[in-house]
Amino acid sequence: MIVVLKMGSTVEQIEEVSTRLTEEGFKVHLSQGVERTIMGAIGDRTRLEALDLEALPFVDKVVPILAPYKLVSREFHPADSIIRIGDQEIGGSRVHVMAGPCAVESRDQILETAQAVREAGATFLRGGAFKPRTSPYSFQGLEEEGLRYLAEAREKTGLLVITEVIDARDVSLVAEYADVLQIGARNMQNFILLKEVAKCGKPVLLKRGPSATLEEWMMAAEYIMDGGNYQVMFCERGIRTFESYTRNTLDLSMVPALHALSHLPVIIDPSHGTGKWHLVHPMAKAALAAGADGLIVEVHHHPEKAVSDGKQSLTPERFKVMMADLAKLTSALDRELGEVSKRVG
Ligand code: PEP
Ligand code: MN
Repeated sequence: MIVVLKMGSTVEQIEEVSTRLTEEGFKVHLSQGVERTIMGAIGDRTRLEALDLEALPFVDKVVPILAPYKLVSREFHPADSIIRIGDQEIGGSRVHVMAGPCAVESRDQILETAQAVREAGATFLRGGAFKPRTSPYSFQGLEEEGLRYLAEAREKTGLLVITEVIDARDVSLVAEYADVLQIGARNMQNFILLKEVAKCGKPVLLKRGPSATLEEWMMAAEYIMDGGNYQVMFCERGIRTFESYTRNTLDLSMVPALHALSHLPVIIDPSHGTGKWHLVHPMAKAALAAGADGLIVEVHHHPEKAVSDGKQSLTPERFKVMMADLAKLTSALDRELGEVSKRVG
């Protein structure tokens, strides 16, 4: 249920509704827009009817949210959510490109890649320090050493850092170094991990599970929001279908679908979404045309030598060509590419 307060409601009035709801056993979430305050009340619906909040003069209406996702829904937060990360904003008019290698392989590799993607126009550096690998014999990541290299790259370039956390026990460690925590596709329904990142105080990029429906994905985001972290971004990275030419099938229809149902930003990953570097640039353009709020793209200086995902990685040169094209496209779409703050780097 959501309780919509009338325009200009005061702190005391919000407090009064909140107290009444809490006394009846509801968990209360506040969504304060420019004009209106909306309160999400999660609990036993029959008790809400008994409370008769609509009788209060400053309550506009009480509306049930019929979908199973509540806080993630547009009803709870009618305006687009803007996620503030450092001095950047995701979900507004600026489109952000997050770029870097699949895995942090060495200090030199991450520093060089960071420099290259920053020059080409990325605002975030990606790179996995903890890698979820299909085989236990594959490279598992540099762990904390990798996190330190990412943080050093941020110092040197001004790029913000996004990196994956795969284990609930590592959330606080990763949050010490990263600006955004990535929940990988394989962990989308790892509810213990979701509850843990809900408490970390950092924005979360929630990738879609390879076989997750839109509703399951939104429910996973609901776990994070219900745990008190409203800074959530969706990331479509392709789903498993019968098609085997591409690694996954990039479901771009999720961009307008999520924008219709939810207020949270949507990022597209054309690298994992296709598995082939030559499909990345065209699918990145398609993603922006569909209204994506950002992209996350794998870049490697020597894709043939990459420890993981070389086949889908762009070289810095190809990345630069793609970024020049995206700059033109964003202006045609009445948006613009994000920029690294002039103060740093
Ligand atoms: C990654 O970003 O390198 C990754 C492992 O992605 P996904 O979880 O989408 O497979
Ligand atoms: Mn990868």
